[in-house]
Amino acid sequence: MNNSKSSAAPIDLRSDTVTRPSQGMRQAMANAEVGDDVMGEDPTVNRLEEMIAEMFGHESAVLACSGTQSNQMGVRVHCIPGDELLIHETGHIFNFEGGAAAALSGVSIRTLPGARGMLDLAELDGKVRVNDQHFCRTRLVCLENTTNLGGGCVYSLDQMQRVSEWAMEHQLKRHLDGARVFNAIVAGGYSAREIGQHFDTISICFSKGLGCPFGSMLTGSREDIAKARRIRKIFGGAMRQSGIVAAAALYALEHNVDRLAEDHRNAQVLADGLRTIDGITDVPTKIETNLVFFQLAPHVGTAVQFAGAMREKGILIGPMGGQRVRMVTHLDVSADDIQTILSATRDCFATGFANRPTTGKGPFSR
Ligand SMILES: *Cc1c(COP(=O)(O)O)cnc(C)c1O
Repeated sequence: MNNSKSSAAPIDLRSDTVTRPSQGMRQAMANAEVGDDVMGEDPTVNRLEEMIAEMFGHESAVLACSGTQSNQMGVRVHCIPGDELLIHETGHIFNFEGGAAAALSGVSIRTLPGARGMLDLAELDGKVRVNDQHFCRTRLVCLENTTNLGGGCVYSLDQMQRVSEWAMEHQLKRHLDGARVFNAIVAGGYSAREIGQHFDTISICFSKGLGCPFGSMLTGSREDIAKARRIRKIFGGAMRQSGIVAAAALYALEHNVDRLAEDHRNAQVLADGLRTIDGITDVPTKIETNLVFFQLAPHVGTAVQFAGAMREKGILIGPMGGQRVRMVTHLDVSADDIQTILSATRDCFATGFANRPTTGKGPFSR
């Protein structure tokens, strides 16, 4: 088994989480040296944690099951019940984690607007509450890089630095949801270490564009990560011979980071093709990474109807509710596939899909 698709296998653009471990990755997993990670004795996990911490210039790192878990470990490290965190209104931590900040940590969330899923001082200034018994304690600011619902956009180093300095001035902790931080690094032209200096904790996913079956990581200071380990246990995420998945992540770091540029190129070609189709609107001119969002003109039909029509042509896409569609490129989508997707899309628009069933799957969260 490999990534190679039989002619019947669909092209899946719903998310970069749909990637399957390649033959080489499976081999690395099969050969992994393992031990009991709760006892700190899995050499492969230890190696991955050290490597990631070093890469981001942080003292320590800890493996987690999912990005939701590593984000929420970060939230709990910095906050106590009754505290408040600041985040963009489209943020994953707020929208797609099952209300975990409230459910697991008793943390209140204050959402803020901002272009492209990003926060800057214009939105943040004045949002730190006065120290008074009436108010919750503003404690944490969370950024997302790249931004998911924001359109796969990449923060500049300057912007991260501004927010970071502002947060420190106000005694706030700084967490980065870096589910797609390697996409940001490849597209942004900066290093992991340059990002790392601006955050107290960073959550990283191996299960998106990097192609691993699961696994995430939280980086930070020795003290914060020691705390995060206790929290991971409480959240049910302390695993045993986790070297199996750490080996996949090490394989991905070696083979699947630089190639993200290919996903970004494919996404741009896809967007440029989609933009020429009558009835498709709001395709950004510049696609910064691997997420392509666009709108369907109301008269052509809804996103769910379009997804149904595309599914019959062997292409799976993510209706985001209403007229909004998301297509995601990843290592199981080739440059040839992009041409197949564009011609299937043109066919759908030529035939029309406005009279199709209006119920179906969506909106997709990732
Ligand atoms: C996918 C994603 C996560 C984590 O999702 P899991 O499915 O829990 O691994 C976190 N943040 C963002 C922005 C994401 O896109």
